[in-house]
Amino acid sequence: MSSNRTPAPDDWRRHGQERYLIGVRLVARTYAVYSPHWDHDHCEFCSEPFSLHEGDLSEGYATEDAYRWVCAPCFEDFRGELKWTVVSS
Ligand SMILES: [Zn+2]
Repeated sequence: MSSNRTPAPDDWRRHGQERYLIGVRLVARTYAVYSPHWDHDHCEFCSEPFSLHEGDLSEGYATEDAYRWVCAPCFEDFRGELKWTVVSS
């Protein structure tokens, strides 16, 4: 479960997410739309799309309000640094 991989300080996926994602609780879940006004989201780090469409990510880690999504590879890379707690849905 532990990960010693910490992305480099200049990793391309970084753009200040620690401001709002440090120490948050994430839920491992199947993708569900947050709002009826849109049908997809993007990983907060690598921008891979989450949606119900074939070919897009259909599961990942979301904040408890399902507003922000993180894909599994980015979750593994940043979980140690951003000190996420995983809660069951
Ligand atoms: Zn990602």
